[in-house]
Amino acid sequence: MRLEEGDVVVARVGEKGRRALCVAKRDSKGPVYSLVEADRHWRSKDAATFWEVEAEDLLANLGPNPNGEHSVYGVKPHLYRGSFTAKGWGEVEVWRDLGRTEVKVISEHLSLVADRLKRRNLDGFFPIVTEIRPAHGQWAGYYDPTKDSRLERGVDVLCLHPKDFLPKGGEHDEGLEGLILHEAFHGVWFRTLPARYRARWVALYNKVVLQRRASVEEIHKMFGDWVKRSCSKAEYISHLRKEYGEDAKADIALLNLALSWIEKAHKINQFNLSDMIKSQELDIRPWLPSVDLFIGKADPVVSDYGAKKAEEMWSEAAMFSMLGRPLHEPVEELLTELIEKVGGYLR
Ligand SMILES: [Zn+2]
Repeated sequence: MRLEEGDVVVARVGEKGRRALCVAKRDSKGPVYSLVEADRHWRSKDAATFWEVEAEDLLANLGPNPNGEHSVYGVKPHLYRGSFTAKGWGEVEVWRDLGRTEVKVISEHLSLVADRLKRRNLDGFFPIVTEIRPAHGQWAGYYDPTKDSRLERGVDVLCLHPKDFLPKGGEHDEGLEGLILHEAFHGVWFRTLPARYRARWVALYNKVVLQRRASVEEIHKMFGDWVKRSCSKAEYISHLRKEYGEDAKADIALLNLALSWIEKAHKINQFNLSDMIKSQELDIRPWLPSVDLFIGKADPVVSDYGAKKAEEMWSEAAMFSMLGRPLHEPVEELLTELIEKVGGYLR
């Protein structure tokens, strides 16, 4: 493989052969290629960010300007572009093209949120690594509390990757502020709230969002009905739709939930199970769920996103509260109580 200076490649580097994103140092043709690592997190941990690798360790040449969202050989094809500091918030590492105005807008919003958190005594999860990455997937950010050992500072990562950073109207953008607050409250969840308070929140989430409980008997009855029809999953679903119309939604959700339970518990995926049912070769009862299952109800208490998981409901509720939006009463009550218990306050 021939590499031009500036080509971005995925290569196996170092003694352990970890995969890394690198930039070709100069025109090089095998057998040894000169590369410079392009992922900043490695910089001070490995003294050498300069690598010489052999042809077999060169996995992919992504060209001079990779802009894919998806990982290549498990490596995000994002090039480190530099960093800036947001006053009161800290350093922000940038992995996508940002104009001067965008940097200003992001910086101001981060400073604003840092200030609001500090004044409310909710900034205990700092310092963190803040990253701006290319827009990716359905959501606009994430908070990674795994204390990734690859990161030199061994701290949490808060990443923002919305499609657009520029405010829709005026200088201040509640969307961006909301996004930063949402991710920041994941930090509060993981680093400030003790497990016993998180557990109380999970209990509330189960009560207000996951209201429909399907008993083991109900689940077995549904699969019994499917077995009687000895059809595929798709055929069974269209039967449910024909029979129950709109009301079939809950049954289909339950069916899918039970199928993923079976896959997790017994490593039998829905296609395997569908085959077993259709062919009626085996008794599937031993693999059916042995516990009651909960299905989310259609009407989310905080937001659609907040209905996803207890910690998403936490972040959404805290963000709503900070932005002065009304909340469902039991959610507001517990949120306020828990925030006060950890020595902070919301308003
Ligand atoms: Zn979230």
